[in-house]
Amino acid sequence: MTHITSTHLADGRELLYFDDAGSPRPRSVELTQDRRDLPARGEPGEVRYDALTGEWVAVAAHRQTRTHLPPADQCPICPTTDANPSEIPAPDYDVVVFENRFPSLGPALGPVPASPGWGTTGPAFGRCEVVTFTPEHTGSFSGLSETRARTVVEAWSHRTAALSALPGIKQVFPFENRGADIGVTLHHPHGQIYAYPYVTPRAAVMGSAARRFYDDADGRQTLTGSLLRAEREDGSRMVLESDSFSAYVPFAARWPLEIHLVPHRQVPDLAGLTGEEKDELAHVYLDLLKRLDALYPTPTPYISAWHQAPVDDLLRPASYLHLQLTSPRRAADKLKFLAGSEAAMGAFINDTTPEQVAERLRSVTVPASPAEALAPAAPGLIEQGVTEPDLIEGAHA
Ligand SMILES: [Zn+2]
Repeated sequence: MTHITSTHLADGRELLYFDDAGSPRPRSVELTQDRRDLPARGEPGEVRYDALTGEWVAVAAHRQTRTHLPPADQCPICPTTDANPSEIPAPDYDVVVFENRFPSLGPALGPVPASPGWGTTGPAFGRCEVVTFTPEHTGSFSGLSETRARTVVEAWSHRTAALSALPGIKQVFPFENRGADIGVTLHHPHGQIYAYPYVTPRAAVMGSAARRFYDDADGRQTLTGSLLRAEREDGSRMVLESDSFSAYVPFAARWPLEIHLVPHRQVPDLAGLTGEEKDELAHVYLDLLKRLDALYPTPTPYISAWHQAPVDDLLRPASYLHLQLTSPRRAADKLKFLAGSEAAMGAFINDTTPEQVAERLRSVTVPASPAEALAPAAPGLIEQGVTEPDLIEGAHA
């Protein structure tokens, strides 16, 4: 069992320690007093309604005043030392989740305005949390032990349930941005969780397609479940299968590297997984990340995005948890940039075939153990733990 300790930072932000199963060092409240003198938290930014598309845009101009990233010896998510009173006021930890100090959404909570039109604005309600995967400043998720990965899965699950229950929250999105190639400067492995006060544009498109399919099937089938079945039967784009999960390159992959990891059982979100499924997820997710990192001599930049059912009575019954793992990398030294067709029109042009990508991911040699993946003697498998510079302090996906 993961041991969870909840506390608050000096400015009132919530922080939770998730200790590995069998961890010899459960946290005590005494260990977790934040002794820094922090200013009071600010008001939320603003959301504006884009009447052309029906989408909300978060305007986080207040975050321009945030401090720049400190040097590496003052990493904000390393364990606290006398020289570095970090965001995590403990001498050691396993996995920590805390509220972002400079959030794009929140800290206040509430609904977006009803019946919006041109000129409609509202507070940028919601919540942004940081998830640290390890106390080690370098490394990457793919180098975590299975026990530690399982603790991260538990943290995602816990936060999904907790954030979904907050007033006004419509979607909870755990994700990780990783890769020096895409502008990352912070070396400490971590991800984020955004809790939005609206259903995001991509989730809305996917949610309505899923709902249409579900209605056409009289509620007996889901779209994702049907695609999962089709991919498993076809087989040509499969990457791996376990008892409870399958991973495949989707038929119409948009990115040079794109993998969907789907549970065999329809569950709305990570909080809906059983303990056994979470154990298995930790294993298969690590396997996938190791495959990505083994493709090229250097670590592969990626976005790991958990698609969860929106907190919405209409969309939720048809929704189906899955991971979309994507990378813009199209060769050892080449990245795909989103240019005119993709950025302006959302019309993707993929230079690789999904079948070839799946074959590469199936056949790549994966390091056998986390220790091997982290060993300095294995260049190319070492990840310098990277993320975008402003992720800690607020961050855009
Ligand atoms: Zn660090």
